[in-house]
Amino acid sequence: MSAKLIDGKLISAAVRKQVTEETSAFTAETGVTPHLAAVLVGDDPASQVYVRNKERACRKCGLKSTLYRLSDKTTQQQLMDLVAELNADESVHGILVQLPLPDHLDSTPVLDSIRPDKDVDGFHPENVGLMLQGRPRFLPCTPHGVMKMLAHENIDTTGKHAVVIGRSDIVGKPMAGLLVQKGSDATVTICHSRTTDIAAVIRQADIVVAAVGIPEFVTGDMIKPDAVVIDVGINRVNDRLVGDVEFSAAAEKASAITPVPGGVGPMTIAMLLGNTLKAAKQSV
Ligand code: NAD
Repeated sequence: MSAKLIDGKLISAAVRKQVTEETSAFTAETGVTPHLAAVLVGDDPASQVYVRNKERACRKCGLKSTLYRLSDKTTQQQLMDLVAELNADESVHGILVQLPLPDHLDSTPVLDSIRPDKDVDGFHPENVGLMLQGRPRFLPCTPHGVMKMLAHENIDTTGKHAVVIGRSDIVGKPMAGLLVQKGSDATVTICHSRTTDIAAVIRQADIVVAAVGIPEFVTGDMIKPDAVVIDVGINRVNDRLVGDVEFSAAAEKASAITPVPGGVGPMTIAMLLGNTLKAAKQSV
């Protein structure tokens, strides 16, 4: 392996340390403890792990977290009612509805109904709009975590060709939106399931961000020498977590690369904590 490993555990620990210190100072000054309400519907095993990790991380940093567990029989109205209750509860600063929801529930009206000033995932259309206009309230956690990693590693994105693979509202689109902002100044290409000759596009990339959800989709031969490779993918293969990038082959070509696990994943949680603290600060 010739690439430098971008250590998400290390970088996220630094972010969490800063959140812990700022939370402690904020609580001492105001008497307010930042409070995240997490809503989990159904018993998807991966979602249970994610929510548990988020709760644990909150507690470790001095934030309060409350988990609302709803059965997989929950109706759309019941879920919307809970969000309305949390919107009205002044002791709650951040609301997170863990995705994916069970098939019978429509996530769009649920996410749209979260108060934008409590939308710590940054998925509400108002927050997406603010982000795209370059005056963010809450940045979506995963793309924000990626930007933090690039900054931590002193990777200059100015004028670089960044290829984002995936166009989801959660990762791909906001990732491209952040990379193209003034200050980041990358030239961005978004690839998706209908892109023609995707390998040829990826081969042009100075920075590759893979958010596809297909194990080892990006193979080593697609990586331009000395490219930076950010692997957002989390795929379970035979009880092992695998990214969207063929790690060892890509690491031979890249200048820097994130591992899975221990790459982008820990950053996502750290940025959520930061957003919850920000929501609490904005509420006083
Ligand atoms: P998604 O399924 O919503 O989107 C996947 C995207 O990949 C789509 O836009 C689609 O167009 C594209 N795609 C699918 N097949 C393709 C193909 N053959 N060629 C090119 N593009 C293709 O997924 P998502 O929510 O964006 O998540 C992507 C991956 O990132 C998943 O593995 C997910 O588990 C992971 N993820 C990780 C974190 C983290 O914290 N590390 C956070 C969110 C998602």
